[in-house]
Amino acid sequence: MPRPIVATIHLDAMQHNLARARACAPQAKVWAVVKANAYGHGLERAVRGFADADGLALVEPDYALRLRELGWRKPILLLEGFFDAADLALMAAHGLNGAVHCEAQIAMLEAARLPHSIDVHLKMNTGMNRLGFTPAAFARAYARLRALPCVGTITLMTHFANAEVAAHPALPTGEQLRRFQLGAHGLPAPRSLANSAGVLLRAGQGTQAASDWVRPGIMLYGGTPGGVSAAAFDLLPAMTLRSAIIGVQDIGAGDVVGYGSGYRAAAPTRVGVVACGYADGYPRHAPHGTPVLVDGVRTSVIGRVSMDMLTVDLTPVPGAGVGSAVTLWGRGLPIDEVAEPAGTVGYELMCALAPRVPVQEG
Ligand SMILES: *Cc1c(COP(=O)(O)O)cnc(C)c1O
Repeated sequence: MPRPIVATIHLDAMQHNLARARACAPQAKVWAVVKANAYGHGLERAVRGFADADGLALVEPDYALRLRELGWRKPILLLEGFFDAADLALMAAHGLNGAVHCEAQIAMLEAARLPHSIDVHLKMNTGMNRLGFTPAAFARAYARLRALPCVGTITLMTHFANAEVAAHPALPTGEQLRRFQLGAHGLPAPRSLANSAGVLLRAGQGTQAASDWVRPGIMLYGGTPGGVSAAAFDLLPAMTLRSAIIGVQDIGAGDVVGYGSGYRAAAPTRVGVVACGYADGYPRHAPHGTPVLVDGVRTSVIGRVSMDMLTVDLTPVPGAGVGSAVTLWGRGLPIDEVAEPAGTVGYELMCALAPRVPVQEG
């Protein structure tokens, strides 16, 4: 008999969320971002759930080839580009578009002899200071690429650091846009700017007016990029993690629970033991009070999360016992409400779903 934990992936929710991205950016083409095994949802399911996307974007060249094996014929974009010159031949052979963000990559392209040209995304660093050419160096980088016969379409790209915040004090999105427009001025090429937060929240600031492509990730999986809840954006959870109660302890006032004995019951309490722990991807730092559903009723984690189990307060669900259904996140319990008390984001929880958790569709 299998351990009762299972993650259910909702392809209909992935389709719905992709349609939301399109509705928010009707004039743009959509790269559905599927890095990190489609944020934990599986590449094979992403190929089906995002069949309507214009392209798939990720960072892992080997997974990009896997997408081709799975039958994806539309564009594929490597968001970090290529890592050494040998990747270029693979990109040409499999039609992979790649980011170009540094001098070393341009030098590799200049030295390459490729059978077909490859399309690239030239990346500008507009203040995030992660990848990309400065606005001042951008036109020169563009000119060097444009001169190469092995380079096809050049799309101009940048990435927002704070698009979920209306006016970030250190680096507002408007300032990133201003720098982008300055650096890209006069270059006759398509643009790709917005992540999920840009798609959902910054349309009014011109992030999309200037965009030929958008690059939503987290919203496609039903997580919020920040700002407001996923439900307020009309997004549906694409992953539900469920398990069951496998043990019950009736403890007295003053008794303690779990490793470290950091939780002490103030009153007699029924403690439910759930077959889910940090080795399944549940955050070990989820504190007492992190929400959980037992038989559909909202209650909370008590005691420290251990490797294979966590403990919950059954007081609000007196009828619950061994075998009762537990929802850790997903339908009925937004992943962001679990991530927040654990000091993280829904992104990290999805991506950390452990390989030992069986996955089904539903
Ligand atoms: C991950 C990523 C995205 C998607 O970001 P979300 O916040 O998940 O929408 C878009 N663009 C780039 C370059 C990325 O690395």
